[in-house]
Amino acid sequence: MPMNNSKENSSIALNDGDKIAVLGGGPSGSFFSIFALKLAKQIGKDIDLTIYEHKSFSNEGPSGCNMCAGVISESLVQLLAIEGICLKSPIVQRAIDSYRFQTISGDVLLHSLNEQRGIATVYRGGGPVSKITSEADENPETEKISFDDFLLDYAEKEGAKIENIRVDDIKLDNEKPQIFSNKRILSDADLVVGACGINTKTAKMFEELGIGYTQPSVIKAFQSEIHIGREKVSTQFGNAIHIFLINQPNVKFAAITPKGSYVTVSMLGKDITKQTVKDFLNYPVVKNKFPDSWTITDTFCRCVPKINVGAARHPFADRIVMIGDASSARLYKDGIGSAYLTAKAAANTAILHGVSCSDFYKNYYPACKKINRDNFFGNVMFAFTNTVNKTPVIREALLNILRNEQDRPELGYRCSTILWDMFTGNELYTDIFLRALNPKLLLRILVNIIGTTFIRLKTIWRY
Ligand SMILES: Cc1cc2nc3c(=O)[nH]c(=O)nc-3n(C[C@H](O)[C@H](O)[C@H](O)COP(=O)(O)OP(=O)(O)OC[C@H]3O[C@@H](n4cnc5c(N)ncnc54)[C@H](O)[C@@H]3O)c2cc1C
Repeated sequence: MPMNNSKENSSIALNDGDKIAVLGGGPSGSFFSIFALKLAKQIGKDIDLTIYEHKSFSNEGPSGCNMCAGVISESLVQLLAIEGICLKSPIVQRAIDSYRFQTISGDVLLHSLNEQRGIATVYRGGGPVSKITSEADENPETEKISFDDFLLDYAEKEGAKIENIRVDDIKLDNEKPQIFSNKRILSDADLVVGACGINTKTAKMFEELGIGYTQPSVIKAFQSEIHIGREKVSTQFGNAIHIFLINQPNVKFAAITPKGSYVTVSMLGKDITKQTVKDFLNYPVVKNKFPDSWTITDTFCRCVPKINVGAARHPFADRIVMIGDASSARLYKDGIGSAYLTAKAAANTAILHGVSCSDFYKNYYPACKKINRDNFFGNVMFAFTNTVNKTPVIREALLNILRNEQDRPELGYRCSTILWDMFTGNELYTDIFLRALNPKLLLRILVNIIGTTFIRLKTIWRY
């Protein structure tokens, strides 16, 4: 059957002994491999699956890391547990039970309503470039367990072959895609899975095949790993992710995620540099969170990864499917959860339905479209958060409501759960948006805005 993108073409089934080449051993590549191999075993199909991954995730720093804040959402932790993939220490660096929202008008601490502290923080690679020291409380071994390595090992146990190699070319030859490294053919695969993310030129190689695939739109983020010692991380940050909405010039969003003996500082915005991070860490409301004696050093582990902010076009063709960040991801949240969803939908399609363009269109694409549609509401919600943050009266009114809800549980947690779900990525943005339209909540916000405005005017008149 000719390689084309027609939605009308018929199904192409994978047969016993057929080869699947998975380009990339990040979360989407490992999830795909685990689900495809498990499913194939269940229906008695013999699949020859190889993951090609050029990084060694035990290496410290960006060269061995898939560069992310490493927060695994509550919903993903639970989904993985159901799949039998249990996340625990030492892969889990810290179990998160709360989010602290810091604005320039004050802060509020929101607790998880789930007693089990379901959110996990992990390292994607072998940890920050090492500065671990002789501190008694540090255990270098537990600092270095990589989430991506853990998933890759899991895939290997399910029967995946792992090749530590960079794929540098893809060609379409007759019916099958061929992949190469250093001009040597690695595989003429019956299915190539593009689990390559958006931080290398690999997605571009798929674009250049002329199958209609276009990479997602991206923005750059800035990540830094700051060492303050395990005990200080616990006393200063506890088990809370700190979100800063402090209107620093050019910065849209900043968060500090506690890990073992480091905290991860993630920043989104325009032209963020090392100096922007230092300026951020020197803001009084940020500096207050660090130990008194602490000063920012000039060198710290940092990277500038890309984040998916818009869906890929045509993420499939005959015998090719793009998954994870190279396809669709939830806006600003739970990218690993999106990797899980797209990988699982692609694996189900490939094993149970087939690997033609029409198989993926019918059975895989709906999962991507669901994420893409939901991101529309994500954009609306983040635009609203931005406006709130820039409008002192509304910001203070909402802080009041949130504090009230935390102090007086009998009021319910309507506003708190909206903020919680938005920043944890626990729920679909569509559901959060609909909950935000609740008339009682809108009335409460309006009353609080009027109250806050009145108090502000009274203060002005007094002077
Ligand atoms: C600053 C930042 C913070 C984030 N924080 C979070 C968070 O806290 N929680 C969350 O859930 N998500 C977060 N994300 C998103 C998350 O990182 C991604 O959604 C997720 O990593 C996507 O997984 P993936 O497998 O599709 O791609 P990746 O994780 O990028 O994996 C792709 C893999 O393919 C390999 N590869 C690429 N090309 C080749 C090639 N030619 N040959 C061999 N191997 C190749 C790469 O080495 C890599 O290992 C964050 C992203 C950013 C930028």
